[in-house]
Amino acid sequence: MLAHTYLFPCLKDNYGVLVQDPETGATAAIDAPEAGPVEAALAKTGWRLTDILVTHHHNDHTAGIGALKVQHQCRVVAPRNEAQRISPVDEKVGEGDVVHVGSLLGRVIETPGHTSGHISYFFPAAKLAFVGDTLFSIGCGRVIEGTPGMMWRSLVKLRDLPNDTEIYCGHEYTAANIRFARTIEPDNLVLAAREVQVKQQIAQGEPTIPVTIGDEKLANPFLRADQPEVAAGIGIPGKAAAQVFAEIRARKNKF
Ligand SMILES: [Zn+2]
Repeated sequence: MLAHTYLFPCLKDNYGVLVQDPETGATAAIDAPEAGPVEAALAKTGWRLTDILVTHHHNDHTAGIGALKVQHQCRVVAPRNEAQRISPVDEKVGEGDVVHVGSLLGRVIETPGHTSGHISYFFPAAKLAFVGDTLFSIGCGRVIEGTPGMMWRSLVKLRDLPNDTEIYCGHEYTAANIRFARTIEPDNLVLAAREVQVKQQIAQGEPTIPVTIGDEKLANPFLRADQPEVAAGIGIPGKAAAQVFAEIRARKNKF
């Protein structure tokens, strides 16, 4: 195992996740929705917090940073394009920058749309991607600060990651996302199978993430806006992918 991860719930439906380098013991928290559950996760695992990797400025991803920084003197890495809205920040990063967690190497992918400076962190050797509120399982984040076209391009960047990349997102929204996705692609058999799997996971009290990008791109309608059958299925055959994406996102906002 190249990296260890530990996923835990925070707030109402947020996820926190720790990623640990077994070689050095260095551990990063991906976002910090609140300090208490991160501290509890550190106590449970026995891991030592060295870094916080922030995906975007929203309070439900950053509220715990200050207290964790005081307690652990960890480094806080944040997106350069919205670092002025996050505090405290030690290192500002953007597209292509390398972030080390001990000996683990991560790369920054800019994924704007949900917020204007949102970033994701991809650890190629460990096959892990931390995507914040850009991509959810069978869904995607609301386009709050960007445009649908911008969000679509961000999602394609994530879709282009290797199929065996495990995706960790910021919220447990999968069941509701599936109810919506079934209205877009009622005949998608991979999506139907995912619905059965998620029902079982939730009944057993298990998280529905991580998911691999390979599985996700077969079932997530927001990653499938450039598939002709999706455009045809929602009544706008032949439209450009960004327009199809915008239509699906608009329908989800009203769902
Ligand atoms: Zn957010």
